[in-house]
Amino acid sequence: MRKLLFQNFVRGPLTEPAPAVDDAALAELAGQLERAARQRLGRTLSIREVDAGSCNACELEIHALNNVVYDLERFGLRFVASPRHADVLLVTGPVTQNMRMALERTYAATPDPKWVVAVGDCARNGGVFSGSSACVGGVSAVLPVDLHIGGCPPSPVALLKGLLALLETVK
Ligand code: SF4
Repeated sequence: MRKLLFQNFVRGPLTEPAPAVDDAALAELAGQLERAARQRLGRTLSIREVDAGSCNACELEIHALNNVVYDLERFGLRFVASPRHADVLLVTGPVTQNMRMALERTYAATPDPKWVVAVGDCARNGGVFSGSSACVGGVSAVLPVDLHIGGCPPSPVALLKGLLALLETVK
C-alpha cells in the first residue's frame, strides 16, 4: 500500500495537457464578432442558452466560452439568464418531448429581433438520439432556425465563427 501511494505521488497526473489556444486568433475573431454586433445591432450580443435535451457535452463547450481561456465577456458578448434580455437563443440537443413546450415558451419570451442558432449535430436532426420516442427531432422541428453550427460537440472557436457568420447575415 505504501509502495502504491509512493508511485502515485511521484508519477504525477495522467491527464493530457490541454491543447494550446491561439490567443491572437481568438482575440481577432471575438473582436470581429463584437464589431459586427455593434454595427448591426447597435450594441453587444446577448445570448440565452437552452438545453433542449442534449447529453451536456455541447454545454461544456459553450461554458468554455466564459472560462479564463476564452473569456467572451471581455469582448462584450454575454450570456443572459432570461430570454427577455436575449438577442440569440443557442439551442442544443435533440428537442425532447419534455422540453418542447419550454423551448416554445422561451422563444415566445424573447423579444424581436431574435435569432435561433442550433448547436451540435443533435440539434440538426436528432443526431444519435434520432428516432427515439422521447425526441421530437432537431430544433427546426419546433422553431425557425437561422443557423446551424455542426459538431459533436462543436468547439468554442467553431461557436464563435458561427455567431460571426450569423451576424454577417443580419441586415
Ligand atoms: S451533438 Fe454530440 S455533444 Fe452535442 S448533445 Fe448531441 S451527442 Fe451530445
